[in-house]
Amino acid sequence: MAQLSDDCFAFGGKLMTVDAALALLVERIAPIAEPETVPLADALDRILAADLVATRDVPPHDNSAVDGYAVYFDDLSTQGETRLPFRGRAAAGHPLGRPQKRGEAVRIFTGAPMPAGADGTGPDTVIMQEDCRVEGEVVIVQPGIKRGANRRKAGEDVKAGSVMLPAGQRLRPQDIGLAASIGCTSLDVRRALEVAVFSTGDELREPGTATPPGCVYDANRFALAALLRRLGARVRDLGIIPDRREAIIAALDRAAGAADAIVTSGGMSTGEEDHVKAAVEALGSLHFWRLAIKPGRPLALGQIRGKAFIGLPGNPVAMMVTFLRFARPMLLRLLGARETEPVLYRVRADFAHKKKADRREWVRARLVADETGALVARKFPRDGAGILTSLVEADGLVELPERLTHLESGSMVDFLPFSEVS
Ligand code: AMP
Ligand code: MG
Repeated sequence: MAQLSDDCFAFGGKLMTVDAALALLVERIAPIAEPETVPLADALDRILAADLVATRDVPPHDNSAVDGYAVYFDDLSTQGETRLPFRGRAAAGHPLGRPQKRGEAVRIFTGAPMPAGADGTGPDTVIMQEDCRVEGEVVIVQPGIKRGANRRKAGEDVKAGSVMLPAGQRLRPQDIGLAASIGCTSLDVRRALEVAVFSTGDELREPGTATPPGCVYDANRFALAALLRRLGARVRDLGIIPDRREAIIAALDRAAGAADAIVTSGGMSTGEEDHVKAAVEALGSLHFWRLAIKPGRPLALGQIRGKAFIGLPGNPVAMMVTFLRFARPMLLRLLGARETEPVLYRVRADFAHKKKADRREWVRARLVADETGALVARKFPRDGAGILTSLVEADGLVELPERLTHLESGSMVDFLPFSEVS
């Protein structure tokens, strides 16, 4: 369970930079999710709890990379063609079953163990069947083959005793395949985070119900729950909470009892209808981080009985951006993930853009091919913080650094693909 202190998110400054905010998050949040063992088939997207050390070599034996003929390289002439009688057969799962003699070739197939020789030696080279001729029981090889050609060495993929996958790795399909290659049937992973979610706002209605005048459907909670599920979290959905202090206190109280972290959207401004701040403070402590960002700010971080509270802005675009850039790394950190920061890619911008200095800005953009086929980032024309369609049309966010004030079309920018973070 999280044991966050009252002042764990305290920050005395005025506007906080993104880097300062991320550094504070890493510093003040310790992983909480204890390990559990899951079958390999259920380990996708989970966070590995401890280094996975190889218990054996992969492949376990030298084997052939092609269909062909196993030979001793030293039996081959470097001047002219070599004629070798071939006898016996080694296929995948069916070793030759006897030592291979000097001066002979053995028919071998991809994945078959390389035959052993008589006295600790053995054939070291495989001639691909396309590179030789066969006359009756004799294989004819031209010079030019390299020693060791087409032979895969035992342990060339994984060495017994080596760390195959480090603790904190978020398990991808290829990681699971690698674990299976040493015969693993289960993995120790971090317990899934329980994250409570609710929306606040008297104007919000549940999809499927009527909307009286002035009301809108709750979009954020569904997007948020989906973002959290992609992180492997288990979502406790507490629904829509009205803009009333007591109602929000009751929801927070329930959330803190049931979950590792609480993520809400809306009600965090300092308008008179924004009651989340007072409610969190009634149960724990809250700190507003006025981030030097657009869209977004403020981000509210707090703790309620040692559980992390993250209050995101209500505007759907601001909610999504602050989730991806702040809440996501924070939750990954709670989960003990090794990598909490997304990878950004350098692409060319095909738009010009003016921005204020000293704040980081995210621009929704699509990736399109220019006339040479290279990808360029094209800005979505409507960029209000409430325009959800802009997120749907976009492939990701162009991240513009603090010092920049004028982006010229054609310059290189950092691009954060949504596929990287969801
Ligand atoms: P707030 O942060 O509560 O001041 O809300 C800012 C804007 O975002 C308002 O226009 C709200 O109606 C809108 N908004 C807040 N929460 C949601 C939500 N869950 N779904 C859709 N829009 C929302
Ligand atoms: Mg509101």
